[in-house]
Amino acid sequence: MRVRISGETVRGDFVKEIEAISGVNLMACNQCGRCSAGCPVAFTLDVQPNQVIRMAQLGMEEVLASATIWTCAACLTCVARCPKGIDLPRVMEALRQISLRHGDDHLRTAGLDADLLTRAPQMAIIGGLRKYTR
Ligand code: SF4
Ligand code: SF4
Repeated sequence: MRVRISGETVRGDFVKEIEAISGVNLMACNQCGRCSAGCPVAFTLDVQPNQVIRMAQLGMEEVLASATIWTCAACLTCVARCPKGIDLPRVMEALRQISLRHGDDHLRTAGLDADLLTRAPQMAIIGGLRKYTR
């Protein structure tokens, strides 16, 4: 993957939006890798957790195409391991929100079974729509 680094991308709107939604200072990450080393689902991820935050730091919108932001289980293991106190699941959530705001929602309630919609807990449906939208 070709990476272009410039002041425009590093201090650009994409980085500001992630930081505003997540409340996380992306530049605090020093890429130590402890988050990825301890992530229990790392073997399933197409982009490792430390790589997600690196791409976010650099303003690389390509990170929105990663399955990782949807696969992250928000288990908080990386938060406990991070020496910089970075809340990576909040960054993942910010990226999901930005993706949804871009209209990348491929799962529609109209396509769900009516019986399921009647019987399933509403929170399960809302959570599923947000989590399994790609
Ligand atoms: S553990 Fe924290 S500082 Fe280290 S790479 Fe992960 S997010 Fe960055
Ligand atoms: S919160 Fe997500 S990225 Fe962090 S350790 Fe758990 S599954 Fe991995």
